[in-house]
Formats: sequence, structure tokens, C-alpha cells
Amino acid sequence: MLKYERYIVFVIVSTGLCIVGFIIIIRRKIGSQGEESDTEISRSTNTSQLEKVAGKGLDSPTIKMYPTTVVDESLQLPKPTDNVCPICLLEYKANDILRTIPSCAHYFHVHCIDEWLKRNATCPLCRNYY
Ligand SMILES: [Zn+2]
Ligand SMILES: [Zn+2]
Repeated sequence: MLKYERYIVFVIVSTGLCIVGFIIIIRRKIGSQGEESDTEISRSTNTSQLEKVAGKGLDSPTIKMYPTTVVDESLQLPKPTDNVCPICLLEYKANDILRTIPSCAHYFHVHCIDEWLKRNATCPLCRNYY
């Protein structure tokens, strides 16, 4: 009976040691990965990380870098011939904020193009990649 109990204690102790060893190894692995991705996360928000994974779109910091223009009262537009947003097909009004895509100089409502660019890394008009 005593032998049997010793055997049980031995099994419990050795399994315990195995588990502790595993935890230490796993923690070290997670720790080293965590350090790398910590810098990534600090550069962009969590949501933009998800967007990057979910689609082929641009992340928010990149989109925010594109220049914006506010339509003034005289409706002076960067290109006077384009007075309609190609995404929502509404005419630009005074105080509308437009975002210009630098590579092709096409412009759109800031809220329209932001949503588009989160999902697609192309210009909705000319399909240029950035
Ligand atoms: Zn629009
Ligand atoms: Zn374009």
C-alpha cells in the first residue's frame, strides 16, 4: 500500500514539473513574440490591424496622410469639371471635406473615400494601386 502511494506522489510531482516547464517555455515564446508585435500595435491602432488582415485596403494612418480640401462658398474645386463624388454620386457642396489621392489627383468626399480605401487599395475611378 505504501509503495502504491509513493508511486502516485511520484507521478503527481513529475507531471507537475512537466506542466511548470511547459508554462515557462510557452511564456518565453509568447513574451518574445509580444515584444515584436507591441511596437507594431503602438504604431497603428487595433482596428487598423484588423482591417489590414481582413482586406487588401489601406490602414487608417496611411489614409489620413492623403491631403484634404474643404470646398469653399464659391465651390472652387481642384478640378472644376468634377463636381460630383464618384462614390456616392452627390454634388459637392460648400464646406464638404474632400480627400485627394496624391498619385492620380482624383478626389472624393472624405467619408466616402476613407471607407473605400479601408477595403480597397485602389482609386475607385482609375483603379491605380498605391
Ligand atoms: Zn461621396
Ligand atoms: Zn484615380
